[in-house]
Amino acid sequence: LAKTREDKRYILFEPSMQAIIAERLQLETNLRQALYQGHFCNYYQPIVNLSTGHPVGFEVLARLHNPEQGWISPEKFIPVAEETGLINPLGWWVFDEACRQLKQWQKQFLDIPLVLNINVSPIQLKQSNFANRIRETLKKVNLEVHHFKLEITESSLLENFPVQTEQLFKLSSIQIPLCIDDFGTGFSSLSRLHEFPIATLKIDRSFIHQITTSPKHSSTVQMILALAKALDIDVVAEGIETMEQLEFLRDLGCEFGQGYFFSQPLDSGDASAYIKRLYQKSTYPQPSC
Ligand code: C2E
Ligand code: MG
Ligand code: MG
Ligand code: MG
Repeated sequence: LAKTREDKRYILFEPSMQAIIAERLQLETNLRQALYQGHFCNYYQPIVNLSTGHPVGFEVLARLHNPEQGWISPEKFIPVAEETGLINPLGWWVFDEACRQLKQWQKQFLDIPLVLNINVSPIQLKQSNFANRIRETLKKVNLEVHHFKLEITESSLLENFPVQTEQLFKLSSIQIPLCIDDFGTGFSSLSRLHEFPIATLKIDRSFIHQITTSPKHSSTVQMILALAKALDIDVVAEGIETMEQLEFLRDLGCEFGQGYFFSQPLDSGDASAYIKRLYQKSTYPQPSC
């Protein structure tokens, strides 16, 4: 018999649950080892200005490669990392590695204003030194807050999360730009959008997926765009996969987007090649002689 924590009811312990628990334990062990053996890496997915096609930066996405199981999806390992607290050391690893990569790109591609978006889980915001450590790290490696954006989920904005709220105020005070990730799927109240200076809303890909086929989805996207415009907040449409979706969004006045139509998340080598090809070509036309 297994006891659920909230309601103290008893439910039958099925063999299938045992398998799930065993898999989770295995994953937790894997995560711990991977972290200390350096099996994580960062992938980078371009974020693009929809009217010019120019990339404006990248979202940093953690990847885990296991020698036996191959690639393990973040949809799988992030929830386990959050439950076990491993998301904290993992999050710092992702950030430190992103700083290192950005320094290298700055050296390699002089004058290209690259911005990296870092995902931050609500669990990470429970660390009382979170904002401070971000500031200290940037100071140490000589990078500025405007080289980054922090992507937080709507649940980080909930009023009844006072510890997270304190860190959000500290992050605003160091002026690091904040994005709301997967916007439209959570329950953030509109008043919270005023409380912290939110730079960007990222519309969840579930809305984009059906934007050309479902009037309900396209109306929701139009509403989010109007809200963002009224509040002077940028919008990124996530999960653009087709030309039709791109054109639809551009016609609605959506300024930025991200998705397989432009590029899959890339390893650092492929991302460097992407910058070389697209940034240098489109932003800095080469003389044709
Ligand atoms: P997210 O932050 O919303 O990231 C976008 C996800 O959508 C990524 O999945 C990306 O690969 C995927 N994606 C991008 N374009 C398309 C598209 O056109 N179509 C479809 N179907 N998918 C697209 P990924 O990399 O598997 O990451 C899943 C989630 O895991 C992320 O969602 C984020 O919430 C979390 N995550 C990933 N890396 C980190 C990290 O370093 N820290 C934290 N806290 N969370 C992370
Ligand atoms: Mg994100
Ligand atoms: Mg997202
Ligand atoms: Mg997501």
